[in-house]
This record gives sequence, C-alpha cells and structure tokens, in this order.
Amino acid sequence: MPEPLLALDEIAHSYGEREAIANVSLSVEEGEIVAIVGPSGCGKSTLLRVAAGLIEPTDGTARFAGEPIVDVPAGLGVVFQDYGRSLFPWLRVGANVAFPLEHLTDRSQRAERVSDALEAVGLGGQDQAYPWELSGGMQQRVAIARALARQPRLLLMDEPFASIDAQTREDLEDLILDLHRSREVTVMVVTHDIDEGVYMADRVIVLTAGPAHVAKTIHIDLPRPRHQDDTKGSIAFGRLRTEVYRSIER
Ligand code: ADP
Ligand code: MG
Repeated sequence: MPEPLLALDEIAHSYGEREAIANVSLSVEEGEIVAIVGPSGCGKSTLLRVAAGLIEPTDGTARFAGEPIVDVPAGLGVVFQDYGRSLFPWLRVGANVAFPLEHLTDRSQRAERVSDALEAVGLGGQDQAYPWELSGGMQQRVAIARALARQPRLLLMDEPFASIDAQTREDLEDLILDLHRSREVTVMVVTHDIDEGVYMADRVIVLTAGPAHVAKTIHIDLPRPRHQDDTKGSIAFGRLRTEVYRSIER
C-alpha cells in the first residue's frame, strides 16, 4: 500500500479549555477527492487548519507525504471561505496570485506560474484587475489560482463556495473537478452542503457534533466525469445524499 498523501492520526485540538476536536483519524490517498461534513461548530475548520499546518494539534500526529506537518508544507494549497478577507485589496490579481511565490527569484518563471494559474481558473488576462473589481465567484477563482500557483499536490478548501450564489457555486464545483482531472491534484474539501460533498467526492467523511470524531465514511461510487444535472438527478445520487444526511447529528 502506498503511503496516504495526508494522514491524520488521533488528532485532538483544544483552544485553551475548549475542546474543538476530540479524536480524528483519517487519511486522504493521492488522487482522491474527500469531502468533510459535520454539524456547525463540530471542528471542521480546526481540522483543516491542523492539516494545513496553520495550528499544531494538542494531540496526535499529522503527516503530509510521510513528513510531519509544520507550517504550510510546500505541495499544499489552501482556499478559505472568505475570499473578501483572504485576497489583498491593494494588490492586483496577478500580484495576489504571485504572493506565495516570492521564493522564486526567477521573475519570468514567476510570471509564467501566475498566468498559468489564472488561465487554469478561467481568468486569463485578468492579472491587472483589482480583486474588488471582480464578482464574488471570480474573486474565489483568484484565491484558487493563488493556491494552484504553488503547484500543490493537495488542495485543502474550507467551505470555499459557501458565500457564493447557487449558479456560480456549481461552476466552481465543476472547476475543481476539472482541475482534479487535468492537474492531478488531490482535494480535501470541508462543506456544509451535502449535495456539493456527494457531487464532488470519492468519499464523504461525516464528523460527529463537537468535539469531533469520525462518525462515518461513505464511499461515493458515482461515475466520473460527473455532470450537474445528470449526476445530481440520478437515483444513486439521491440515495447517497440521504445516507449522508441521516449520518449527521442535528
Ligand atoms: P466548524 O468549522 O465545524 O464550524 P470550528 O473548527 O470553527 O468548527 O470550531 C470548533 C469549535 O472550536 C467551536 O466550538 C468554536 O467556537 C471553537 N473555536 C474555533 N476557533 C476558535 C478559536 N480561535 N479560539 C477559541 N475557540 C475556537
Ligand atoms: Mg468552519
């Protein structure tokens, strides 16, 4: 068995006295899309911060490609829900995407990475715009481009489309599926939208109410490529979404 790309082993995290995650073990294999769902406040964002190396767990071990996770490892890209706060309003789109590339001293290489990443999210030629000149959906595309510019093996996303209208959200779900296929990027996405999780994922991991542990893993054996109407309209999809829905404590 090859080593999982992301391995979280008996992770616990407390903010002071407040226990956010009790004991979470899960792994993500290279090439998978894994969706994490669970009740509001159960510790999903905390888990994602641990996986991203943004916070240290109070207990357990987190490994990326076999190495303990410290800081944000190279090979890892992160996208948050709140694009309004994650993009720098005083920097143009190109400079926002270039921001995590300051270690690349070769300017032409950096420029190439930026235009490639913007191209990949459908924003080719928008590098001179300011984020606030763009719609919410386009701003989130910029945030995705910024994560892609690092050429990540693993893309971590925390409710990335929660603040985006339904039509645009579907376009962005499909963008992620395209990137997963064309760039062979592994994806772990936190979502509170069950349909979104089932539509995108190979596996949906359901967390219990906080402090979280894993309640259930549901394998999503829907064929790929998936299509918004055909996939979400299928009987198999309906069955899976019901199974996920019933697994979430309310
Ligand atoms: P979710 O993303 O599932 O809604 P979070 O991981 O954001 O859950 O939060 C889990 C628990 O930890 C909640 O009770 C929340 O209030 C608490 N929490 C989250 N972030 C902090 C923080 N920075 N300081 C203190 N408590 C926090
Ligand atoms: Mg959250």
